[in-house]
Amino acid sequence: MTEPHFQASLRGLPPMDSLLDQNWLEDWIPSLGRETVKRVFTSVVNDIREGIRNGSVEDASMEAINRRASSVFARRGRSSLRPLVNATGVVVHTNLGRSCLAEEAVRSVSDVARSYSTLEYDLHTGERGHRNDHVEWLLSELSGAEAALVVNNNAAAVLLCLAALARDREVIVSRGELVEIGGSFRIPDVMAFSGARLVEVGTTNRTHRADYLDAVTPETAMFLKVHPSNFRIQGFTTSVDRQDLAQSARERSLISMEDLGSGMIVACGELGLSGEPTIRDCITAGIDIVTFSGDKMLGGPQIGCIVGKRSLIGRLKSYALLRALRVDKMTLAAFETTLRFYLAGRNDRIPTVRMISERPEALRKKAQRLARLLRKRVSAGVFEVIPVSDAVGGGAFPAETLPGFGVAVRFQGGVPTTGQLLSSLRSAEYPVVAGARDDVAVFHVRTLLEGDEEKLARSLESVLSRR
Ligand SMILES: *Cc1c(COP(=O)(O)O)cnc(C)c1O
Repeated sequence: MTEPHFQASLRGLPPMDSLLDQNWLEDWIPSLGRETVKRVFTSVVNDIREGIRNGSVEDASMEAINRRASSVFARRGRSSLRPLVNATGVVVHTNLGRSCLAEEAVRSVSDVARSYSTLEYDLHTGERGHRNDHVEWLLSELSGAEAALVVNNNAAAVLLCLAALARDREVIVSRGELVEIGGSFRIPDVMAFSGARLVEVGTTNRTHRADYLDAVTPETAMFLKVHPSNFRIQGFTTSVDRQDLAQSARERSLISMEDLGSGMIVACGELGLSGEPTIRDCITAGIDIVTFSGDKMLGGPQIGCIVGKRSLIGRLKSYALLRALRVDKMTLAAFETTLRFYLAGRNDRIPTVRMISERPEALRKKAQRLARLLRKRVSAGVFEVIPVSDAVGGGAFPAETLPGFGVAVRFQGGVPTTGQLLSSLRSAEYPVVAGARDDVAVFHVRTLLEGDEEKLARSLESVLSRR
C-alpha cells in the first residue's frame, strides 16, 4: 500500500456524526442507549484505523464499519444469560447451570421475588426470625442430623467450617483426598483462606487409621474426609472407613468432618447406581459435620449445606464470616420447595433425580420419538438412534456411566461437517449444546426437558436454512 493511499483511507473514515445519524440504529438505541452505540462505533473506527496503519485492513467504508458494529450490537442486544438445550447427556453440568428446578420450585422463587416475605420474620411472635429456619428442620429431618445451616455454596460451607472450627489449628487430611474440583475448588487453598493448617497424611493411594492417629498433636482440631469427586484411584488402594475415622476422632476429642460434594438424600440404589453414601449414612456413621452442594445430585438451587452436631452448628451460626456467605430469599424458596418433595417421597418431581434414574428402555423410546420428529422436519439429515454413555456429572460417580440413548446426525455429502453443525447449533436463536462421538454429532435425550425436542428441531432447521 502506498503512502498517499494510506493517508487517503484514514481521511476517508466517516465522521461520528454521520455514523450516528443512520436509520438502522433505531433498532438498537432504545435497548442499548445512545452512549453505548457511540462507544461501539468509536471502538470499531479505532480498530479499523489501526488496521489501515498496519496493513491488515483495506476496507474502511461505512458498510464495513456498520458490519462490525452490527455484530457487536447483536451480541450485546440480547440477554447473555439465557436458556439452552442440553443434549450432552451430562445431567449435573456445571457449565450449563447444574440442576434444573422443579416447576413448583420456580413458582416459589417468583412468589418471594415479587413480594415481601417471611424471610426473617416470625409470624407467631411478630418478631425477627432467622432465614436459616426455613430449611434447617427439613435438612435435619431428611439427614437425621441434630442441626443444619445453609450458605451460598459448598465451597463456602467448607470454608466456614474450617474457619470457625479449626482456625490456627491443624486439620488432618489424607493425601489421596487433596483434590481439585473443576472450577478451582482446591482443598489446600480453601484451608489456607480459612486460617487452618493442613496436615497431609498417608500416600496418594493408601492411607491407614494409624496415619491419622500418628499425626495428632495438641494443635490438632479435626480429621477431614473429602470426597474425591471427579477422579478415582484404582488398584492398590486403602482409605479409612468413615465410621473408623469418626470414632478415632471422638476418642481424641477431635472433630470429624466430611465434605461429601454431591450430597444425596435418596439411596443411590434407587437411582440404579452404587457405591455412594447418602447424607444420612455419614451422620449415622458418626461424622460430626457433613457438607454438600444443593445443586448437584440433590437437584436444588446453588446452595451449600452443613449438617451435624448441634453444638458445632451453633458455633458456625455465631461466626461473623457467616454474614458474608448468607443465602438469598429466592434460593431459600427454591430449596425449601425442593426439600419438601423429598419429605413427601415425591423424588420423581425433581428433574435431576428423574433424569439420573431414567431407564434405558424409556430413553430408547424418547430417542426414537426425537428421530421421527427430526426426519419429518429436516429432510437433508440422516438420523439414527444409537446407544450412548451419559454421566451424572458434578463430580459424582466419575467412574460410572449411565447407559442412555441418543440420535446421531449426519448430512448427505458431509456438509455441514460435524464441527460446523455443533458450532451453528450453539449460535442458533435457541442454542443447543450437543455431544459428539466418532466425529458425529449426537443428541443425548436423557437431559432433554419437556419441549426441548421442538426447540431442537427448530434450531436445526434454522441452521440448515442459513446455509
Ligand atoms: C462440587 C464440590 C465442591 C464445591 O461445591 P460448590 O457447591 O460448587 O461450591 C466441594 N467439594 C467437593 C468434594 C465437591 O464435589
